[in-house]
Amino acid sequence: MAAVDEFRDELAELLQALIRIPTLNPPGEAYEDFVSEFRARLDGYGYTTEVHAVPEADLPELAPFGQGLPRPNLIGTLNRGDGPVVHLNGHYDVVPVGNDWTRDPFGGELADGWIYGRGAADMKSGLAAQVIAVEALRRTEWAGTVVQSAVPDEETVGVRNAGMGWLVEQGLVKADALIITEPFGPDGVGIGHKGAIWGEITLQGKQAHGSSPRLGINAVEAMARYLYAIDRHVRPLLEARVTAYGVTPDEPHATLSFDTIRGGAATNIVPDRCTVTFNRRLIPGEDLDTARDELLAPLEGQRYDYKEIYSTQPVLVGEEEPVVQAACRAVRDLGLEPRILISAGSDDQRFVVQGAGITNSLVYGPGTTGLSHISDERISVEDLVLGTKGLALILADLLEAT
Ligand SMILES: [Zn+2]
Repeated sequence: MAAVDEFRDELAELLQALIRIPTLNPPGEAYEDFVSEFRARLDGYGYTTEVHAVPEADLPELAPFGQGLPRPNLIGTLNRGDGPVVHLNGHYDVVPVGNDWTRDPFGGELADGWIYGRGAADMKSGLAAQVIAVEALRRTEWAGTVVQSAVPDEETVGVRNAGMGWLVEQGLVKADALIITEPFGPDGVGIGHKGAIWGEITLQGKQAHGSSPRLGINAVEAMARYLYAIDRHVRPLLEARVTAYGVTPDEPHATLSFDTIRGGAATNIVPDRCTVTFNRRLIPGEDLDTARDELLAPLEGQRYDYKEIYSTQPVLVGEEEPVVQAACRAVRDLGLEPRILISAGSDDQRFVVQGAGITNSLVYGPGTTGLSHISDERISVEDLVLGTKGLALILADLLEAT
């Protein structure tokens, strides 16, 4: 912990430098600039580094919002003899800026103990913590291998993606323990995330002259009846499903939200199509097929199209996993009480657990979920330092540092 304090300025400076590279996704700007900067830092710290870029031919499928821009993944390895392989992972893409900022979103400004900018919380703070935690660890004796990965495209999800998903598909993610440094806070120990289905339902009716609605089938009115049926029959089921784990942001229920609707062409035509998009979130214990059946049951006997944009099963690793235990000990050593959490969203842990089969994995990072994806996104230097100490303590524990 004292060693991390010594790196306080270097840690803040690194985060500021990373924020200043505007890695906006979509479409995926300045990715190569970011990777060369981060690579230079790791090289400087003595890592062996490799860049794995997704082949151009695979970009349309793996990065559909990426406009053909490059998708480089960076892996840095630091070997200190025989011992466990601990992998630290963060995504370097950030969500669009949006409105109402009072600070430069890419200025990396430090003011009154806060560092501002898109990615300050989610999650360039995690990437900076990953690097500096290991530098602090060098003040001890340890044996093993630390792997650092910095990946793109976490924010645009996808059943597959060009970042961690692709690295896992390539067999490049192997570890005895893996830590993703998403912003769960210095006391947050993330053991999974909700499942999700994002999709689209289109009801098919039949056009008719607006003066003679009986001659048609009104798709807009049919959609209203469908949404009402969901409210009556499905919502009570979801309300009754509550996870016992803390959820960040705080939403312990299974949820379903219809987020867009469009239908009809003009007020003198009975509409023959009406489309809604929905966002269903599954708590651990639910599964995708049941969720689909529940959603579609009220449509029986009707003509409709169903399309999914994204889906993932819920992810949950056991609290008894060694890395989870180590994280709880580390948080207590910081003088805090660990909060065992799952994310209400989804993150790259799905690839780690479901793709690479690494259940000894968790999310631990210095930023705060509530300060992510907002105007004036920020992190306090205090949290940045504290989270980095937590991470250093987890590493020291896993790598048996003395
Ligand atoms: Zn994130």
